Amino acid sequence: MPSKPAVAKSAQSPAPAAQDSKEEIFRSLIQRHLVSTLARHPETATPRDWWVATSLAVRDTIHNRMIATQTVHNQHNARRLYYFSLEYLMGRLFGNNLIATDLLEIAESALKSLGQDFDKIRNSEVDMGLGNGGLGRLAACFLDSLATLDYPALGYGIYYEFGLFRQEFVNGGQIEHPDNWTIFGDPWEIVRAEYTQEVRFYGRVENVFDDNGNYRPRWVDTKTILGVPHDIPTAGYGTGTVNLLRLWASKSSEDFDLAAFNSGGYVEAVREKAIGETVSKVLYPNDKTETGKELRLMQQYFFVACSLRDIIRRHFRNKENSWANFSDKVAVQLNDTHPAIAVVELMRILVDEQNTPWDEAWAVVGKTFAYTNHTLLPEALEKWSAGLFERVLPRHLQIIYEINTRLLKTVETKWPGDNAKKRVCSLIEESGQKMIRMANLAVVGSHAVNGVAALHTQLLKKDLFPEFDSLFPGKFQNKTNGITPRRWLLKSNPKLSELITKKIGKDWPRNLDLLRGLEKFADDAAFQKEFMTIKRENKVALAEVIKADCGIDVSPDAIFDVQIKRLHEYKRQHLNLLHILALYRRLLQNPSLDVVPRVFVFGAKAAPGYDLAKNIIRAINVIGARINADSRIGGKLKVAFLPNYRVSLAEKIIPAADVSEQISTAGKEASGTGNMKLALNGALTIGTLDGANVEIKEEVGDDNIFIFGLNVDQVEELQGKGYNPWNYYQADEELRAIIDWLGSDYFTPDEHGAFSLVHRSLLDGGDPYLVLADFRAYSDAHAKIDAAYRDKKRWARMAIMNTARVGKFSSDRTIHEYAKQIWKLKALPVSGNFTKLPS
Ligand SMILES: *Cc1c(COP(=O)(O)O)cnc(C)c1O
Repeated sequence: MPSKPAVAKSAQSPAPAAQDSKEEIFRSLIQRHLVSTLARHPETATPRDWWVATSLAVRDTIHNRMIATQTVHNQHNARRLYYFSLEYLMGRLFGNNLIATDLLEIAESALKSLGQDFDKIRNSEVDMGLGNGGLGRLAACFLDSLATLDYPALGYGIYYEFGLFRQEFVNGGQIEHPDNWTIFGDPWEIVRAEYTQEVRFYGRVENVFDDNGNYRPRWVDTKTILGVPHDIPTAGYGTGTVNLLRLWASKSSEDFDLAAFNSGGYVEAVREKAIGETVSKVLYPNDKTETGKELRLMQQYFFVACSLRDIIRRHFRNKENSWANFSDKVAVQLNDTHPAIAVVELMRILVDEQNTPWDEAWAVVGKTFAYTNHTLLPEALEKWSAGLFERVLPRHLQIIYEINTRLLKTVETKWPGDNAKKRVCSLIEESGQKMIRMANLAVVGSHAVNGVAALHTQLLKKDLFPEFDSLFPGKFQNKTNGITPRRWLLKSNPKLSELITKKIGKDWPRNLDLLRGLEKFADDAAFQKEFMTIKRENKVALAEVIKADCGIDVSPDAIFDVQIKRLHEYKRQHLNLLHILALYRRLLQNPSLDVVPRVFVFGAKAAPGYDLAKNIIRAINVIGARINADSRIGGKLKVAFLPNYRVSLAEKIIPAADVSEQISTAGKEASGTGNMKLALNGALTIGTLDGANVEIKEEVGDDNIFIFGLNVDQVEELQGKGYNPWNYYQADEELRAIIDWLGSDYFTPDEHGAFSLVHRSLLDGGDPYLVLADFRAYSDAHAKIDAAYRDKKRWARMAIMNTARVGKFSSDRTIHEYAKQIWKLKALPVSGNFTKLPS
């Protein structure tokens, strides 16, 4: 393979002849992998086989770049960022790796010349779905930006054998199926058995004193399991850098416990082994809450222990390095509190294993870690019972108590005699069962704590951590989330990308602020026509997906109104449903009502144990089916809930969206990133002043967004004086009628109370997310959307303005801010050394 660094497509378009020979080389590479690696005859090979063979051909190039990158990083003894995340929602890797290696067009024509259907082949890749939602996708976007910006970085995570469940609808209700994504093998992964790590659990602490009378506790009688790294290369775009995502798979430390085996305990021996393999078996499917499960705590510690050991091993590989310069070379970012036990584990290694004095160790820890908070929802703040901790990680619990003792002294110095302050700052919650507060641990163990949108950071300081904010001034800062434009525009919307490149040049995927150059075409009739023609073509393509996956016919001339995100009360899919019911009722009462036809598109998984969320899914599906089949409304309303929402499906929906639903209760959505993807692709946001919507409004301007509803202050005020949904129900005739309708058995004549969970939550349940309070404003905002869409020129202008003005939300901007302000990380380009492979 040619071994020059891949650069942005068309930055370096080879001459046609060179292109031809490149294609020839690539074609024979594919054929060789198909036959030699996969032992497949081209005649009987499936699309999946072709996908594997092509992936392996691309991988050859990526591996060269990866070795070159690691060599340069090691030669420079570079300071690196280690991203700790229990979730990575990578999606498919094929398309992005083809783009990153500048091989997309070559692969397309090579496969075509081999008689293969490129789309069929790319669609045979199973998503790598090792995450729940926004938090996991953020980690994936960050890896893309880190590599593209040449930052030395490594992502650490867990190699879940089962990723997020596959969703199916039966009778409109969600059914979960296991996602056994590794079953056919993953052509991107490299198993590094030589870097296997040992992790200990359980046991007890022996109180031992050394010869000088110092307390030297020993953690003994532990059980050991192994962590085996699986590496996934993450290739930058338009540069030589290829970083790594290193995922740990758990294994039992011995194949069989021989003693048990010999004494006839064969089954016990195998059981022991099974426990070892269980730890990394499955991703917990809850997006915001995961409480008290021993296996989950074991996953967190397993992941953290393997990763820290690996970092230390790599650090000491260089003879210049020592513990004295550890935090000069190592920056660790904690993606939420899930890996917060790392703070304690590094203390344990330093104090117990290295005999480092406590204060010195604590200084190293503080310089190493930084923590990103992702939510203010109280039910999402991780807590572990002290009892569970004591059983699984007894020595760590002791260290937590010691950290806490010192913390409370600091609090006492700042606020002498103020026990209330001590209670809120403490790492231990003492009311009722003793609980360890992982967020407090992450805050005190880190030198920086960040929120993920300006509003969220403000609330973090004001409402969640005011005491820590005054105890540690300057520690809290904002890093507004972003998305990678390589996946969320260049790859997923090739037609719009081509149009943009034609207008403003090829550099925008590496510098998204350049999209501002499109503003001057916003009123240009020819450009508007091209822009909206592409939108329509994307809608035609999505209509085909809707037909194939849901069996529903939709018209590409309708407004495609999209809400795609995890199903959660705070995201308020049920507010959307109430509005659909209102439209339906208006049409039934006046069939000639002049409304622009609408297709409401949903995509959402509910946590398997979240009954109310599942009830909302069922209500949307069942009511939607009734609406879709009702000939009285002349096809003016369609509802399509696409099953199994995931990254690869998002990539098909987003380019086709006209309207983006971002309707969370103000103060509840930390940032959102779906809002950014949709605006970038020319969808107009209908949204509350929540999360990053606030900043999207600032960027696109008030005329290019539909903001409605209560703001954070109004939500606080309303809840402060005692919110009563019945008042809104009584005062609004239409609202009352649709809620009664929802609560009746009209939509399920054979089943009583099918939607009673949703119905009850809105009235007797007190409507905790203020759906009723925001309903009328939401409905009015939709009326404005209807009016705006009728004016084709105005709509085109607004859509173009959205694409042109959301450059700020590139994850490149976010990563530059982290690198400068938190990680103190310098870019280290490797392109110059790219051709030099180690001998
Ligand atoms: C972007 C993304 C999310 C996050 O969406 P929000 O609207 O920000 O909650 C969740 N899931 C997938 C598959 C995504 O691509």
